Amino acid sequence: MQYGYRIVEDMKNGLMHYMEEQHVDHLADLVGLATKNIVPAEKLDRDYKVYPKIDWDKCIGCGRCYISCFDGAHQAITWDEEKRRPSVNINRCVGCQLCNLVCPVGAITTGEKVLKPGRKGNAADKQVESSRLTHF
Ligand code: SF4
Ligand code: SF4
Repeated sequence: MQYGYRIVEDMKNGLMHYMEEQHVDHLADLVGLATKNIVPAEKLDRDYKVYPKIDWDKCIGCGRCYISCFDGAHQAITWDEEKRRPSVNINRCVGCQLCNLVCPVGAITTGEKVLKPGRKGNAADKQVESSRLTHF
């Protein structure tokens, strides 16, 4: 609830602009388009995780990643109050990429891929599926 219920009005406006840009006349035309992207949990590859990578030159010090990880993930980001810069503690990070998703300026991207303890394979061969997580 970072923005409160007022975000609903923003979402409506955003959707109206999107439909106009994409020449979509009816909301019903969008319903179900994303269902092909839903994957059953047992099909997910859980053998590896991907750490986030923070670019301090791009970071504007908003603290969103820190708050999001603290409240919604695994308290894996430490916050330098003086420099207003985050750092990832890889001993706590589970690679959920929530921090990546909430960063408003694309300062967080996918970083090192690692196999989880006891898993076999080569983490470097793993494909990160979502383009949202790698490009802004
Ligand atoms: S990937 Fe998830 S657990 Fe790791 S730092 Fe980001 S939000 Fe926290
Ligand atoms: S969310 Fe992005 S811009 Fe904000 S503090 Fe984290 S890395 Fe910096």
